[in-house]
Order: sequence, then structure tokens, then C-alpha cells
Amino acid sequence: MSMLQVKDLWVDIEDKTVLKGINLEIPYGETHILFGKNGSGKSTLLMTIMGFARYRVRQGTIYFQGRDITHAPTSERARLGLGLAFQRPPTIRGVKTADILRACAGDRVSYQALAAAYDFTPFLEREINYGFSGGEIKRSELLQLLAQDPALVMLDEPESGVDMENLQVVGEIIGKLLQKDRRRPRREKSGLIITHTGFILDYVNADTGYIMMDGRLLCSGNPREILDHIKKFGYVECEKCGR
Ligand code: ADP
Ligand code: MG
Repeated sequence: MSMLQVKDLWVDIEDKTVLKGINLEIPYGETHILFGKNGSGKSTLLMTIMGFARYRVRQGTIYFQGRDITHAPTSERARLGLGLAFQRPPTIRGVKTADILRACAGDRVSYQALAAAYDFTPFLEREINYGFSGGEIKRSELLQLLAQDPALVMLDEPESGVDMENLQVVGEIIGKLLQKDRRRPRREKSGLIITHTGFILDYVNADTGYIMMDGRLLCSGNPREILDHIKKFGYVECEKCGR
């Protein structure tokens, strides 16, 4: 049994078919990386696995730890152990960062201690993401995930818009989320991470990478080799190859 298994997944947004037959399996303790051009469907895949209503599953099945969650509500998926950090998290006026961190943490951990460990205490009383810098938004998002402590960690471009100063912290939190310090089988967490820069590869033990192209997953292989290839040739060669 795997942490996540996606079988022949077809997804529509409004009347556009965005995902066209995705197959993906992530074993326990493994982290998989998604590369691909803008608009190829990467965020759609993560949002669909998390169960947001806008993403309509037309065909296919999503299994989490052997259980069919294809039509489960998002709240149930979060309780079961799926977690997602958004590419562009919303600003929420009137709700304090402390409130969402407390909700994520439940009685698992002290959210104040978490915030203190990552220099985030000054942000607790501020409204969620209101006036935050790009790096602060990503740190807040990742701290929420740390508080939630999901078994499957999904990250949508966690390094985008993050300055050098915050990059290090972002990398450290991601390493912690994915139990980078442990080896399998002691490492239980699995990851599915979208990245453009590959910066994240220094902070996680990534096992497999893919290129998303026009709603299909191509070219499964060593993530560093795939990244080198993209840097050298762009996605043009992938379009020709189509493997
Ligand atoms: P990526 O994350 O790879 O950049 P997305 O999954 O965000 O790609 O988008 C895939 C495709 O779905 C794009 O063509 C995008 O325009 C379209 N799309 C995403 N969200 C919506 C939406 N809310 N309404 C209509 N089309 C959308
Ligand atoms: Mg995206």
C-alpha cells in the first residue's frame, strides 16, 4: 500500500479539461517532484488531491493510504493527514495568524512554541497574510503545515517570491516537515512538491521527478537529472520527446 495513489485522473475546471489521465504513486517516506511550464496543470493536481470544489473529477480515483478519497470533502482529507501549502495563499482580513495556527495545531503542539522556534511570534497578532512580504507569507503557510503535521505534504512552489533571507528558513521547515533527518523506513512522511528552481532539492530527499505537460505526466526519473535537462534544453525537447 502507498501513501498516495492516483489512477487515470481526469479533471475539469469549468468546461476546460485540465488533467488528462494522471497516474501517480507515492510510497511511504518518498518525496516526488513536479516540474513543468506554467499552465500545464501542476497546481490543479495538488488542489484536486486536496479536494477543492472547483476541480471536478470526471474520471479516475485517488487513494490515500489505501482509502478512496476521490469524493471526500477537503476537511475530511485534512483530518486524514493530507496537507497543502498554496502557491498563492489568500489574505484574510479579520482573522489573526494565531487563530489559524491554533486551529491547525489542535492539541498536538503549542503553536506559540512553533512560532517562537521560527522567529514568527511578531506575526501572530496580525491578520492572515495582510501586508506580509512574499517570504513571510510562505513561512506562515509552512508553519501552519508544521502545526497540522500531515502525513502527505504537498507544496506548491514553496520558494516562489521568497528572498534569500527567508529561503534558508523555508528550506529548514520543509526538511522538518518531511523528516529529512530520518532514513526509510523510519521516515514516514511523503511529499509532492512543485518547483521551478529546484532549490528545494537541497532540503529534501527527493526520489522521483516528473514533467507535467498539457495535463499529462511525462518523463519520470531522477529529479536532479530532469532539472539539469530542463536548464539545458528548456521544455522544448520534452515536447518533442513526449515520453
Ligand atoms: P500550473 O500550476 O502548472 O501553472 P494550473 O494548474 O494553475 O497550472 O492551470 C492549468 C490550466 O487550468 C491553465 O490553463 C489555467 O488557465 C487553467 N485554470 C486554472 N484555474 C482556472 C479557473 N479557476 N478557471 C478556468 N481555468 C483555470
Ligand atoms: Mg501553479
